[in-house]
Amino acid sequence: FSSRRRHTRYIGDWSSDVCSSDLIMKPNLLGLSREKMKALFSELEEKPFRAQQVMQWIHQRGVLDLNEMTDISKVLRGKLEQLVEIRAPKVVADYPSEDGSHKWIIEVASGSRVEMVFIPEGSRGTLCVSSQAGCSLDCSFCATGKQGFNSNLTVAEIIGQVWLARQQLDGFDAAAQRRISNVVMMGMGEPLMNFEPVMDAVSLMMDDWAYGLSKRKVTISTSGVVPAIRRMKEYTDASLAVSLHAPNDALRSSIMPINKKYPIVELIDAVKEYMASLQDKRVPVIEYTVIKGVNDHRQHARELAKLLKTLPCKINLIPFNPFSLSDYRRPSDSVISNFREILQHAGFTVTVRTTRADDIGAACGQLVGDVEDQTRRQERHARRAEARQNEASEHSGQSRVERARILASTGEAAASDPLVLGS
Ligand code: SAH
Ligand code: SF4
Repeated sequence: FSSRRRHTRYIGDWSSDVCSSDLIMKPNLLGLSREKMKALFSELEEKPFRAQQVMQWIHQRGVLDLNEMTDISKVLRGKLEQLVEIRAPKVVADYPSEDGSHKWIIEVASGSRVEMVFIPEGSRGTLCVSSQAGCSLDCSFCATGKQGFNSNLTVAEIIGQVWLARQQLDGFDAAAQRRISNVVMMGMGEPLMNFEPVMDAVSLMMDDWAYGLSKRKVTISTSGVVPAIRRMKEYTDASLAVSLHAPNDALRSSIMPINKKYPIVELIDAVKEYMASLQDKRVPVIEYTVIKGVNDHRQHARELAKLLKTLPCKINLIPFNPFSLSDYRRPSDSVISNFREILQHAGFTVTVRTTRADDIGAACGQLVGDVEDQTRRQERHARRAEARQNEASEHSGQSRVERARILASTGEAAASDPLVLGS
Protein backbone atom coordinates (compact mmCIF):
# COMPACT_ATOMS: atom_id res chain seq x y z
CA PHE A 1 0.00 0.00 0.00
CA SER A 2 2.89 2.32 0.71
CA SER A 3 3.46 2.94 -2.99
CA ARG A 4 -0.11 4.09 -3.40
CA ARG A 5 -1.11 7.59 -2.67
CA ARG A 6 -2.96 8.41 0.47
CA HIS A 7 -5.82 10.79 0.85
CA THR A 8 -4.22 12.93 3.45
CA ARG A 9 -6.77 15.64 3.00
CA TYR A 10 -9.61 13.59 4.35
CA ILE A 11 -7.94 11.77 7.20
CA GLY A 12 -10.12 12.02 10.24
CA ASP A 13 -13.20 12.78 8.26
CA TRP A 14 -14.57 9.28 8.45
CA SER A 15 -18.16 10.39 8.58
CA SER A 16 -18.21 12.07 5.17
CA ASP A 17 -19.80 9.19 3.25
CA VAL A 18 -23.17 9.82 4.72
CA CYS A 19 -26.10 9.62 2.45
CA SER A 20 -28.01 12.87 2.82
CA SER A 21 -31.34 11.21 2.25
CA ASP A 22 -30.81 8.81 5.11
CA LEU A 23 -32.97 9.69 8.05
CA ILE A 24 -30.55 8.20 10.53
CA MET A 25 -27.45 9.65 8.88
CA LYS A 26 -25.14 6.84 9.87
CA PRO A 27 -21.91 6.57 7.89
CA ASN A 28 -21.75 3.45 5.75
CA LEU A 29 -18.62 1.39 6.50
CA LEU A 30 -18.76 -0.08 3.00
CA GLY A 31 -17.65 3.30 1.66
CA LEU A 32 -14.83 4.12 4.08
CA SER A 33 -11.35 4.26 2.58
CA ARG A 34 -8.49 2.80 4.60
CA GLU A 35 -7.58 6.22 5.98
CA LYS A 36 -11.13 6.97 7.03
CA MET A 37 -11.64 3.54 8.54
CA LYS A 38 -8.44 3.99 10.55
CA ALA A 39 -9.60 7.42 11.67
CA LEU A 40 -12.88 5.94 12.85
CA PHE A 41 -11.15 3.26 14.93
CA SER A 42 -8.70 5.76 16.31
CA GLU A 43 -11.61 7.92 17.47
CA LEU A 44 -13.06 4.85 19.13
CA GLU A 45 -9.66 4.38 20.79
CA GLU A 46 -9.18 1.06 19.02
CA LYS A 47 -6.04 -0.29 17.34
CA PRO A 48 -5.57 0.37 13.60
CA PHE A 49 -5.63 -3.36 12.82
CA ARG A 50 -9.33 -3.31 13.63
CA ALA A 51 -9.76 -1.21 10.50
CA GLN A 52 -7.98 -3.91 8.51
CA GLN A 53 -10.16 -6.64 10.01
CA VAL A 54 -13.40 -4.84 9.27
CA MET A 55 -12.34 -3.92 5.72
CA GLN A 56 -11.39 -7.52 5.01
CA TRP A 57 -14.69 -8.81 6.39
CA ILE A 58 -16.61 -6.43 4.16
CA HIS A 59 -14.63 -6.39 0.91
CA GLN A 60 -12.88 -9.75 0.90
CA ARG A 61 -15.37 -11.99 2.65
CA GLY A 62 -18.52 -10.14 1.65
CA VAL A 63 -19.83 -9.85 5.22
CA LEU A 64 -22.07 -6.87 5.93
CA ASP A 65 -23.43 -8.01 9.29
CA LEU A 66 -21.32 -6.87 12.24
CA ASN A 67 -22.48 -9.89 14.25
CA GLU A 68 -20.74 -12.19 11.82
CA MET A 69 -17.39 -10.46 12.33
CA THR A 70 -16.36 -12.98 14.94
CA ASP A 71 -12.84 -11.71 15.66
CA ILE A 72 -14.22 -8.32 16.75
CA SER A 73 -15.26 -8.17 20.39
CA LYS A 74 -18.95 -8.03 21.24
CA VAL A 75 -18.45 -4.71 23.03
CA LEU A 76 -16.88 -3.11 19.97
CA ARG A 77 -19.53 -4.56 17.68
CA GLY A 78 -22.16 -3.07 19.95
CA LYS A 79 -20.48 0.34 19.81
CA LEU A 80 -20.25 0.17 16.02
CA GLU A 81 -23.86 -0.82 15.68
CA GLN A 82 -24.88 2.42 17.38
CA LEU A 83 -22.68 4.54 15.16
CA VAL A 84 -22.55 3.10 11.68
CA GLU A 85 -24.27 0.97 9.12
CA ILE A 86 -22.96 -1.40 6.45
CA ARG A 87 -25.21 -1.40 3.44
CA ALA A 88 -24.78 -2.36 -0.21
CA PRO A 89 -26.88 -0.67 -2.88
CA LYS A 90 -30.00 -2.51 -3.98
CA VAL A 91 -30.03 -4.52 -7.21
CA VAL A 92 -33.40 -3.97 -8.86
CA ALA A 93 -32.82 -5.85 -12.11
CA ASP A 94 -30.36 -8.33 -13.44
CA TYR A 95 -29.73 -9.07 -17.11
CA PRO A 96 -27.38 -11.87 -18.12
CA SER A 97 -26.33 -11.62 -21.77
CA GLU A 98 -25.91 -14.51 -24.14
CA ASP A 99 -22.27 -13.55 -24.65
CA GLY A 100 -21.43 -13.97 -20.95
CA SER A 101 -21.70 -10.26 -20.11
CA HIS A 102 -23.98 -9.23 -17.31
CA LYS A 103 -25.80 -5.99 -16.55
CA TRP A 104 -27.34 -5.00 -13.23
CA ILE A 105 -29.58 -2.05 -12.47
CA ILE A 106 -28.98 -0.57 -9.05
CA GLU A 107 -31.13 1.78 -7.07
CA VAL A 108 -29.19 4.45 -5.20
CA ALA A 109 -30.33 6.42 -2.16
CA SER A 110 -31.54 9.36 -4.24
CA GLY A 111 -34.06 6.97 -5.80
CA SER A 112 -32.29 7.09 -9.18
CA ARG A 113 -31.19 4.00 -11.01
CA VAL A 114 -27.74 3.37 -12.39
CA GLU A 115 -26.17 0.49 -14.21
CA MET A 116 -23.05 -1.61 -13.96
CA VAL A 117 -21.86 -4.08 -16.54
CA PHE A 118 -19.51 -7.04 -16.31
CA ILE A 119 -17.73 -8.06 -19.51
CA PRO A 120 -15.65 -11.26 -19.52
CA GLU A 121 -12.94 -11.55 -22.18
CA GLY A 122 -10.70 -14.59 -21.99
CA SER A 123 -8.89 -14.51 -18.66
CA ARG A 124 -9.93 -10.92 -18.09
CA GLY A 125 -13.13 -9.72 -16.49
CA THR A 126 -13.93 -6.02 -16.73
CA LEU A 127 -16.49 -4.31 -14.56
CA CYS A 128 -17.85 -1.02 -15.89
CA VAL A 129 -18.92 1.12 -12.94
CA SER A 130 -21.16 4.22 -12.72
CA SER A 131 -20.19 7.34 -10.79
CA GLN A 132 -23.31 9.49 -11.12
CA ALA A 133 -26.98 9.02 -11.83
CA GLY A 134 -27.25 10.89 -15.12
CA CYS A 135 -24.64 13.42 -16.21
CA SER A 136 -24.65 17.19 -16.55
CA LEU A 137 -22.15 17.36 -19.40
CA ASP A 138 -24.58 16.71 -22.20
CA CYS A 139 -22.38 15.12 -24.87
CA SER A 140 -24.55 14.89 -27.96
CA PHE A 141 -23.88 11.17 -28.60
CA CYS A 142 -24.48 9.88 -25.08
CA ALA A 143 -27.68 8.40 -23.69
CA THR A 144 -26.67 9.19 -20.11
CA GLY A 145 -26.14 12.83 -21.09
CA LYS A 146 -29.71 12.95 -22.44
CA GLN A 147 -30.99 12.15 -18.94
CA GLY A 148 -29.45 15.25 -17.42
CA PHE A 149 -27.93 15.15 -13.97
CA ASN A 150 -29.80 13.36 -11.21
CA SER A 151 -27.38 12.75 -8.36
CA ASN A 152 -23.83 11.97 -7.34
CA LEU A 153 -23.19 8.47 -6.06
CA THR A 154 -21.69 8.07 -2.58
CA VAL A 155 -18.45 6.12 -2.07
CA ALA A 156 -20.51 3.18 -0.81
CA GLU A 157 -22.66 3.29 -3.94
CA ILE A 158 -19.61 3.29 -6.20
CA ILE A 159 -17.52 0.65 -4.41
CA GLY A 160 -20.79 -1.14 -3.66
CA GLN A 161 -20.99 -1.94 -7.38
CA VAL A 162 -17.72 -3.86 -7.16
CA TRP A 163 -18.95 -5.55 -3.97
CA LEU A 164 -22.25 -6.48 -5.62
CA ALA A 165 -20.69 -7.74 -8.83
CA ARG A 166 -18.36 -9.93 -6.83
CA GLN A 167 -21.24 -11.24 -4.75
CA GLN A 168 -23.44 -11.85 -7.77
CA LEU A 169 -20.75 -13.48 -9.90
CA ASP A 170 -18.77 -15.73 -7.61
CA GLY A 171 -19.75 -15.00 -4.08
CA PHE A 172 -16.87 -14.21 -1.75
CA ASP A 173 -15.64 -17.75 -1.42
CA ALA A 174 -11.85 -17.48 -1.34
CA ALA A 175 -11.59 -20.55 -3.54
CA ALA A 176 -13.74 -18.98 -6.23
CA GLN A 177 -11.77 -17.80 -9.20
CA ARG A 178 -11.32 -14.09 -9.25
CA ARG A 179 -13.28 -12.91 -12.22
CA ILE A 180 -13.17 -9.15 -11.82
CA SER A 181 -9.64 -8.28 -12.92
CA ASN A 182 -10.29 -4.77 -14.26
CA VAL A 183 -12.55 -1.90 -13.28
CA VAL A 184 -13.32 0.97 -15.62
CA MET A 185 -15.18 4.09 -14.51
CA MET A 186 -17.02 4.16 -17.83
CA GLY A 187 -20.58 3.60 -16.72
CA MET A 188 -23.04 6.41 -16.17
CA GLY A 189 -21.76 9.83 -15.20
CA GLU A 190 -18.56 11.83 -15.31
CA PRO A 191 -16.29 10.48 -12.56
CA LEU A 192 -14.36 13.71 -12.14
CA MET A 193 -17.55 15.68 -11.50
CA ASN A 194 -17.97 13.53 -8.38
CA PHE A 195 -14.34 13.82 -7.44
CA GLU A 196 -13.76 12.87 -3.79
CA PRO A 197 -16.20 9.92 -3.67
CA VAL A 198 -14.68 8.54 -6.88
CA MET A 199 -11.15 8.96 -5.53
CA ASP A 200 -12.06 7.13 -2.31
CA ALA A 201 -13.82 4.34 -4.21
CA VAL A 202 -10.85 3.95 -6.55
CA SER A 203 -8.50 3.77 -3.56
CA LEU A 204 -10.61 0.91 -2.18
CA MET A 205 -10.49 -0.91 -5.53
CA MET A 206 -6.68 -0.84 -5.34
CA ASP A 207 -6.33 -1.38 -1.58
CA ASP A 208 -4.85 -4.70 -0.45
CA TRP A 209 -7.28 -4.68 2.48
CA ALA A 210 -10.14 -4.48 -0.01
CA TYR A 211 -10.03 -5.56 -3.68
CA GLY A 212 -6.27 -5.22 -4.28
CA LEU A 213 -6.55 -4.49 -8.00
CA SER A 214 -3.48 -3.25 -9.84
CA LYS A 215 -3.34 0.47 -10.59
CA ARG A 216 -2.91 -0.52 -14.23
CA LYS A 217 -6.27 -2.25 -14.12
CA VAL A 218 -8.36 0.49 -12.58
CA THR A 219 -9.19 3.17 -15.13
CA ILE A 220 -10.89 6.51 -14.70
CA SER A 221 -12.49 7.73 -17.91
CA THR A 222 -13.08 11.45 -18.26
CA SER A 223 -14.56 13.77 -20.83
CA GLY A 224 -11.90 16.30 -19.84
CA VAL A 225 -12.62 18.13 -16.61
CA VAL A 226 -9.22 19.81 -16.68
CA PRO A 227 -8.92 21.20 -13.11
CA ALA A 228 -9.96 17.80 -11.74
CA ILE A 229 -7.38 16.00 -13.91
CA ARG A 230 -4.79 18.36 -12.46
CA ARG A 231 -5.92 17.47 -8.91
CA MET A 232 -5.91 13.72 -9.53
CA LYS A 233 -2.22 13.21 -8.90
CA GLU A 234 -2.63 14.23 -5.26
CA TYR A 235 -5.16 11.43 -4.76
CA THR A 236 -4.49 8.49 -7.01
CA ASP A 237 -2.23 6.74 -9.48
CA ALA A 238 -4.98 4.89 -11.31
CA SER A 239 -4.94 4.64 -15.09
CA LEU A 240 -6.54 7.32 -17.22
CA ALA A 241 -8.77 7.24 -20.29
CA VAL A 242 -9.74 10.45 -22.04
CA SER A 243 -12.83 10.84 -24.17
CA LEU A 244 -11.58 12.98 -27.03
CA HIS A 245 -13.93 12.13 -29.93
CA ALA A 246 -12.75 14.96 -32.19
CA PRO A 247 -9.42 16.22 -33.51
CA ASN A 248 -10.15 19.96 -33.26
CA ASP A 249 -11.91 22.39 -30.94
CA ALA A 250 -14.68 23.40 -33.33
CA LEU A 251 -15.87 19.84 -33.83
CA ARG A 252 -15.27 18.78 -30.25
CA SER A 253 -17.19 21.76 -28.86
CA SER A 254 -20.09 20.94 -31.15
CA ILE A 255 -20.48 17.43 -29.72
CA MET A 256 -19.02 17.91 -26.22
CA PRO A 257 -20.03 21.20 -24.57
CA ILE A 258 -17.30 20.78 -21.94
CA ASN A 259 -14.75 21.57 -24.63
CA LYS A 260 -15.92 25.18 -24.70
CA LYS A 261 -14.71 25.48 -21.13
CA TYR A 262 -11.59 23.32 -21.39
CA PRO A 263 -10.26 23.23 -24.94
CA ILE A 264 -8.09 20.45 -26.35
CA VAL A 265 -4.64 22.02 -25.68
CA GLU A 266 -5.45 22.48 -22.01
CA LEU A 267 -6.81 18.95 -21.82
CA ILE A 268 -3.74 17.38 -23.40
CA ASP A 269 -1.51 19.44 -21.16
CA ALA A 270 -3.32 18.25 -18.02
CA VAL A 271 -3.18 14.63 -19.22
CA LYS A 272 0.58 14.89 -19.84
CA GLU A 273 1.04 16.35 -16.37
CA TYR A 274 -0.89 13.48 -14.76
CA MET A 275 0.95 10.81 -16.71
CA ALA A 276 4.28 12.41 -15.77
CA SER A 277 3.30 12.17 -12.10
CA LEU A 278 3.04 8.37 -12.25
CA GLN A 279 5.95 6.30 -10.97
CA ASP A 280 5.77 3.70 -13.72
CA LYS A 281 5.60 3.97 -17.50
CA ARG A 282 1.98 4.09 -18.55
CA VAL A 283 0.11 5.82 -21.31
CA PRO A 284 -3.45 7.13 -21.35
CA VAL A 285 -6.12 5.63 -23.55
CA ILE A 286 -7.65 8.13 -25.93
CA GLU A 287 -11.26 7.17 -26.56
CA TYR A 288 -12.79 8.18 -29.86
CA THR A 289 -16.43 7.37 -30.50
CA VAL A 290 -16.74 7.21 -34.27
CA ILE A 291 -20.01 8.73 -35.51
CA LYS A 292 -21.14 8.47 -39.12
CA GLY A 293 -20.69 11.73 -41.04
CA VAL A 294 -19.63 13.62 -37.90
CA ASN A 295 -16.06 12.68 -36.97
CA ASP A 296 -15.31 9.64 -39.15
CA HIS A 297 -13.68 11.23 -42.21
CA ARG A 298 -10.14 10.28 -43.25
CA GLN A 299 -9.18 13.91 -42.71
CA HIS A 300 -10.30 13.62 -39.09
CA ALA A 301 -8.02 10.61 -38.62
CA ARG A 302 -5.06 12.49 -40.12
CA GLU A 303 -5.77 15.52 -37.97
CA LEU A 304 -6.05 13.29 -34.90
CA ALA A 305 -2.69 11.66 -35.63
CA LYS A 306 -1.13 15.11 -35.88
CA LEU A 307 -2.79 16.32 -32.69
CA LEU A 308 -1.62 13.33 -30.66
CA LYS A 309 1.95 13.34 -32.00
CA THR A 310 3.38 14.65 -28.76
CA LEU A 311 1.23 12.54 -26.43
CA PRO A 312 2.28 8.91 -26.06
CA CYS A 313 -1.05 7.08 -25.90
CA LYS A 314 -3.18 4.21 -27.10
CA ILE A 315 -6.25 4.96 -29.14
CA ASN A 316 -9.50 3.13 -28.62
CA LEU A 317 -12.08 3.60 -31.36
CA ILE A 318 -15.66 3.06 -30.19
CA PRO A 319 -18.14 2.61 -33.03
CA PHE A 320 -21.14 4.76 -32.06
CA ASN A 321 -23.84 2.78 -30.30
CA PRO A 322 -27.25 3.99 -31.41
CA PHE A 323 -30.04 4.68 -28.92
CA SER A 324 -33.60 5.86 -29.31
CA LEU A 325 -33.14 9.57 -28.57
CA SER A 326 -30.31 10.03 -31.07
CA ASP A 327 -30.23 10.53 -34.83
CA TYR A 328 -26.56 9.63 -35.06
CA ARG A 329 -25.54 6.49 -36.89
CA ARG A 330 -22.69 4.03 -36.61
CA PRO A 331 -20.19 4.17 -39.51
CA SER A 332 -19.68 1.08 -41.65
CA ASP A 333 -16.94 -1.37 -40.72
CA SER A 334 -14.87 -0.29 -43.72
CA VAL A 335 -14.96 3.36 -42.65
CA ILE A 336 -13.83 2.36 -39.17
CA SER A 337 -11.03 0.17 -40.48
CA ASN A 338 -9.81 2.96 -42.80
CA PHE A 339 -9.81 5.33 -39.85
CA ARG A 340 -7.87 2.80 -37.83
CA GLU A 341 -5.31 2.21 -40.58
CA ILE A 342 -4.52 5.89 -40.93
CA LEU A 343 -3.77 6.07 -37.22
CA GLN A 344 -1.77 2.84 -37.28
CA HIS A 345 0.32 4.08 -40.19
CA ALA A 346 1.06 7.17 -38.14
CA GLY A 347 2.50 4.84 -35.48
CA PHE A 348 -0.34 4.55 -32.96
CA THR A 349 -1.57 1.41 -31.24
CA VAL A 350 -5.26 1.36 -32.05
CA THR A 351 -7.98 -0.93 -30.79
CA VAL A 352 -11.58 -0.99 -31.93
CA ARG A 353 -14.03 -1.70 -29.16
CA THR A 354 -16.32 -4.53 -30.11
CA THR A 355 -19.89 -4.11 -29.10
CA ARG A 356 -20.79 -6.58 -26.41
CA ALA A 357 -24.02 -7.46 -24.72
CA ASP A 358 -26.16 -5.95 -27.46
CA ASP A 359 -29.07 -8.10 -26.32
CA ILE A 360 -29.17 -6.39 -22.92
CA GLY A 361 -28.44 -2.80 -24.02
CA ALA A 362 -25.17 -2.65 -22.12
CA ALA A 363 -22.88 -1.10 -24.72
CA CYS A 364 -21.11 2.21 -24.13
CA GLY A 365 -23.50 5.09 -24.07
CA GLN A 366 -26.56 2.87 -23.95
CA LEU A 367 -26.55 2.66 -20.21
CA VAL A 368 -30.05 3.87 -19.71
CA GLY A 369 -31.56 0.64 -20.89
CA ASP A 370 -35.12 -0.40 -21.33
CA VAL A 371 -35.82 -0.42 -17.62
CA GLU A 372 -36.00 3.34 -17.53
CA ASP A 373 -39.56 4.19 -18.36
CA GLN A 374 -39.60 5.73 -21.82
CA THR A 375 -42.18 8.38 -21.00
CA ARG A 376 -40.37 9.56 -17.91
CA ARG A 377 -37.17 9.80 -19.88
CA GLN A 378 -38.77 11.91 -22.58
CA GLU A 379 -40.42 14.16 -20.03
CA ARG A 380 -37.06 14.75 -18.43
CA HIS A 381 -35.59 15.48 -21.81
CA ALA A 382 -38.35 17.97 -22.52
CA ARG A 383 -37.75 19.72 -19.22
CA ARG A 384 -34.08 20.00 -19.99
CA ALA A 385 -34.80 21.52 -23.38
CA GLU A 386 -37.01 24.07 -21.65
CA ALA A 387 -34.37 24.76 -19.05
CA ARG A 388 -31.81 25.25 -21.81
CA GLN A 389 -34.07 27.79 -23.50
CA ASN A 390 -34.43 29.64 -20.24
CA GLU A 391 -30.70 29.63 -19.79
CA ALA A 392 -30.24 31.15 -23.21
CA SER A 393 -32.61 33.99 -22.37
CA GLU A 394 -30.62 34.52 -19.15
CA HIS A 395 -33.57 35.94 -17.18
CA SER A 396 -32.47 34.78 -13.79
CA GLY A 397 -29.40 33.71 -11.87
CA GLN A 398 -30.71 30.18 -11.38
CA SER A 399 -28.67 27.25 -12.62
CA ARG A 400 -29.97 24.96 -15.33
CA VAL A 401 -30.43 22.19 -12.82
CA GLU A 402 -32.35 24.45 -10.46
CA ARG A 403 -34.62 25.59 -13.27
CA ALA A 404 -35.15 22.02 -14.44
CA ARG A 405 -36.06 21.09 -10.88
CA ILE A 406 -38.55 23.93 -10.62
CA LEU A 407 -40.07 22.95 -13.94
CA ALA A 408 -40.25 19.36 -12.78
CA SER A 409 -42.00 20.29 -9.58
CA THR A 410 -44.54 22.51 -11.34
CA GLY A 411 -45.11 19.82 -13.97
CA GLU A 412 -44.42 22.21 -16.86
CA ALA A 413 -42.93 20.22 -19.71
CA ALA A 414 -41.86 21.81 -22.96
CA ALA A 415 -44.63 20.72 -25.26
CA SER A 416 -42.72 22.11 -28.21
CA ASP A 417 -39.77 19.76 -27.79
CA PRO A 418 -39.45 17.92 -31.11
CA LEU A 419 -38.27 14.80 -29.30
CA VAL A 420 -41.55 14.58 -27.48
CA LEU A 421 -43.74 15.46 -30.44
CA GLY A 422 -41.88 13.08 -32.68
CA SER A 423 -42.28 10.08 -30.46
N1 SAH B 1 -18.15 10.43 -18.50
C1 SAH B 1 -17.02 9.64 -18.80
C2 SAH B 1 -17.23 8.17 -18.60
C3 SAH B 1 -18.53 7.57 -19.04
S1 SAH B 1 -18.83 7.44 -20.74
C4 SAH B 1 -16.52 9.94 -20.19
O1 SAH B 1 -17.22 10.62 -20.94
O2 SAH B 1 -15.42 9.53 -20.51
C5 SAH B 1 -17.77 6.11 -21.25
C6 SAH B 1 -17.38 6.17 -22.71
O3 SAH B 1 -18.48 5.85 -23.56
C7 SAH B 1 -16.90 7.54 -23.13
O4 SAH B 1 -15.74 7.48 -23.92
C8 SAH B 1 -18.07 8.03 -23.94
O5 SAH B 1 -17.72 9.03 -24.80
C9 SAH B 1 -18.53 6.78 -24.63
N2 SAH B 1 -19.87 6.87 -25.19
C10 SAH B 1 -20.91 7.58 -24.71
N3 SAH B 1 -21.99 7.41 -25.50
C11 SAH B 1 -21.64 6.58 -26.49
C12 SAH B 1 -22.34 5.99 -27.60
N4 SAH B 1 -23.62 6.25 -27.82
N5 SAH B 1 -21.66 5.17 -28.40
C13 SAH B 1 -20.37 4.88 -28.17
N6 SAH B 1 -19.66 5.38 -27.13
C14 SAH B 1 -20.29 6.23 -26.30
FE1 SF4 C 1 -21.41 12.50 -19.39
FE2 SF4 C 1 -19.46 10.91 -20.36
FE3 SF4 C 1 -21.96 10.80 -21.36
FE4 SF4 C 1 -20.44 12.94 -21.84
S1 SF4 C 1 -20.04 10.83 -22.51
S2 SF4 C 1 -22.61 12.98 -21.22
S3 SF4 C 1 -19.33 13.12 -19.92
S4 SF4 C 1 -21.35 10.26 -19.29
